[in-house]
Amino acid sequence: MTKPGPLRAAVTTSKSNVEIRDTAAVVPGPREVLVTVERVGLCGSDIHLFSGDHPYSNYPLVQGHEFSGVIAEIGPDVDGPLTLGDRVAIEPFTSCGSCYPCRTEHPNCCENIEIVGVHRSGALQTQIVVPAAIAHSIGDLSADLGTLCEPVSIALQAVTRAAVVAGEFVLVLGAGPIGQGIVLATSELGADVMVSDLAQNRLDLARHLGATETILAGGDDNLAQRVEQWTNGDGPAVVFDATGASAVIRSGFDLVAASGRLVIVGLSNDDVSLPIVEFTRRELTVLGSRLNTGLFPEAVELVKRNADRIGAMITQRYSLEDAQQALTFAHDHPAEAIKVLIEVSES
Ligand SMILES: [Zn+2]
Ligand SMILES: [Zn+2]
Repeated sequence: MTKPGPLRAAVTTSKSNVEIRDTAAVVPGPREVLVTVERVGLCGSDIHLFSGDHPYSNYPLVQGHEFSGVIAEIGPDVDGPLTLGDRVAIEPFTSCGSCYPCRTEHPNCCENIEIVGVHRSGALQTQIVVPAAIAHSIGDLSADLGTLCEPVSIALQAVTRAAVVAGEFVLVLGAGPIGQGIVLATSELGADVMVSDLAQNRLDLARHLGATETILAGGDDNLAQRVEQWTNGDGPAVVFDATGASAVIRSGFDLVAASGRLVIVGLSNDDVSLPIVEFTRRELTVLGSRLNTGLFPEAVELVKRNADRIGAMITQRYSLEDAQQALTFAHDHPAEAIKVLIEVSES
């Protein structure tokens, strides 16, 4: 079983500043478990929280919501399959159960949502208490790959929203971790997948994960021409935006086939302007996608099935003590840092 050693936390105390602090032991309450954190993946929202341009930047904060660990203690009234020593991946949000989206089975859109590492303390610490309901056993999956279940669950939600089926042409705009997860999930479904990104290393990874076509954005190739040739003039049935960039969303709107679906999973506070006539002329379906609804166990299975190749998403690793350097590197090198991992404890 994993030994926690001295208890410590990486605390973001102010913009671009992380301090390593000793922490007191914590005890799980009713329906909670104590998890010894093994690995934490850094995500785009962590970088925004760190650099102070996230709407919820509220210091001091222990960040980290993509993580794996081992059950170290089980609180009272936990029923369910978890046992001491189980390796788990955490589905990092809780919902109120009573607001309109919760009542209609969309807890991912809860009006009172609490995201681990954003609204409450996250995983950049030796141990963390979480509700047992959000801890999912991952069996013999490694601690490293356990951190990928959360970003893959986001991708799986977007793919499920789009209801992708075998044989469809799917265009993925943006090959960060969510775009890569979409490539993996849609290619497994039997779709024909093209990916566009500004960085060649990300396109190479997308091919490794199942894309059949890649195009370097801003390169010599014209995206519209390539898409037209590839789809024999039809356009892709589904376009995913995993960039959140308004110009990219606009291009996805222009490229998607008549009667097609455009799914927006990229995040931004910007506006995007779309020609109204196209909604009706091409009867487009434009979908948003957030977190996931009940798909986390499926995401774990997707990671397990692809355990031999999905690890290539992890590009750098740092110790907990070097959390500030890890966040700084990810902030300064967005193309190279696909998934930066923090090793919190030995496993
Ligand atoms: Zn994330
Ligand atoms: Zn709610």
